[in-house]
Amino acid sequence: MRPTDAGVIARYRERLPIPHNASAVSLNEGNTPLVRLNSLSDDQREIEIFAKVEGANPTGSFKDRGMTVAISMAAHEGSEAVICASTGNTSAAAAAYAARAGMKAIVIIPDGQIALGKLAQAMMHGARVIQIAGNFDQGMEIVKAISQKAPVTLVNSVNPFRLHGQKTAAFEIVDTLLRCPDYHFLPVGNAGNISAYWMGYSEYLETGDLARRPVMVGCQASGAAPFVQGTPIERPDTIATAIRIGKPQSWALAQAACEESAGWFLGRSDEEILAAQRHLAQNEGIFCEPASATSVAGVMLALGESAIPNGSCVVCTLTGQGLKDPDTAISQCPEPQRVSPQIDAVHDAILD
Ligand SMILES: *Cc1c(COP(=O)(O)O)cnc(C)c1O
Repeated sequence: MRPTDAGVIARYRERLPIPHNASAVSLNEGNTPLVRLNSLSDDQREIEIFAKVEGANPTGSFKDRGMTVAISMAAHEGSEAVICASTGNTSAAAAAYAARAGMKAIVIIPDGQIALGKLAQAMMHGARVIQIAGNFDQGMEIVKAISQKAPVTLVNSVNPFRLHGQKTAAFEIVDTLLRCPDYHFLPVGNAGNISAYWMGYSEYLETGDLARRPVMVGCQASGAAPFVQGTPIERPDTIATAIRIGKPQSWALAQAACEESAGWFLGRSDEEILAAQRHLAQNEGIFCEPASATSVAGVMLALGESAIPNGSCVVCTLTGQGLKDPDTAISQCPEPQRVSPQIDAVHDAILD
């Protein structure tokens, strides 16, 4: 593959609604690792579990897949500025791709609840960062209204190009596994991504690249679980800030994905989510952010309840990089031991 042939637009262009004369604004996103989780796979029961490591994308989350398409189309249509509400990763991706396209990015973030690395990204890429004394859902209403009356393109996942870009992750999984997973677990916040995966699997079914589709399992944090509760919620709360959303914009699409696939939604507590994050870091060598670990926490629950039959192939999406949220990581770990700079002191300490 030549460098200019990389990126999801170059690789899946014929499956994306992009005019042939539109050029791609790309950071060579996609083509992320699909890693077998040996600690959770079960040879005896012939259950194989894989993680799609989306933290390996250029800005550290799957949002890059959607953003390359959304920003390419905004540029093609002559837009000079983009706007989004964000729990962090959308703003990081919007800021980076806008910088690459020579466009302005305006990002609306909730008060306080944004992981440090994501804020650093938006600021460093030169976005105009506006913090509101409110939550993501309120920010979402504001950017929808502003993009109606100001000459700025909305690049949240209500922008249909976002989901088209993100569906390429499903293509990659099938192209790599050379089969359809039986189950697909993923974290659900605004619910764009589960809808995008379902679109991807469904398109592969239509073109005969698949004979069936996986069961979709949407994993939420218990404190921010509108799908589990069956109704939007006013005050979502979870340590997994990327999915701290009470009024998902892609509600109907996500519900349809779940129902058509005979799947389900589940909720996991913050403690269970962080335990899954540590499990991945300490047993698999994969450092994902808390929201991402929700999918693995969901797999652990399903395995414990014997909800996954023997012989199943399971994929879970790890949506973002662990480095995004260093505070939550450090707060779970023992502090480094402090000793004097002497051989004996260090020797004693490590044998302790
Ligand atoms: C955006 C995001 C999610 C949630 O995806 P939705 O499409 O909003 O459901 C989950 N994890 C991470 C790390 C994210 O950035």
